[in-house]
Amino acid sequence: MKHNGPAGAELAARRKAAGLTQRQLAKAAGVGRTAVQYWEAAPHLDPRGWAVGRMAEALGWHVNGPVCCTVSRPRGDEVLSPFAAIDAWAAAQLAAYREREAARAARRRVVCGAKTRKGTPCRNKSEPGKRRCKFHGGMSTGARTPEGIERIREAQRRRWARHKAAPQATGPES
Ligand SMILES: [Zn+2]
Repeated sequence: MKHNGPAGAELAARRKAAGLTQRQLAKAAGVGRTAVQYWEAAPHLDPRGWAVGRMAEALGWHVNGPVCCTVSRPRGDEVLSPFAAIDAWAAAQLAAYREREAARAARRRVVCGAKTRKGTPCRNKSEPGKRRCKFHGGMSTGARTPEGIERIREAQRRRWARHKAAPQATGPES
């Protein structure tokens, strides 16, 4: 297999520039120390290699060269490390999924279920993306005319009067 990645010496140089020992880089990248030693001594890094990807990521280094799983090439020939490319792809997939879910939720209609005056659950379909129907979801403007407002005020007074007269009742809304 022919590897066209940068020289292993470049990995060593970047590690030293970051002020890390081989042991520290191995720990930061979650790879074995032998992997660090092996790749630093290699004539060419294999950008497709798992350990190479981890080390490059730990060093914030975008390794140039062929990458097996690269989905996007954000900056011309500069290819993200394998893991960064996969992460970017996964993030895009997740964002698309969430967008589809949000669109679906915005169209979803369920049974309203609000308690009606009869005491039974409302069986109307909800407004798209909402839990309540147009009658129970705040679409009603309520009373608008002075007469209508006065009528509601009267009704509330009567309910309260009933409630005070019989405190054992279920409440003012009964
Ligand atoms: Zn309803």
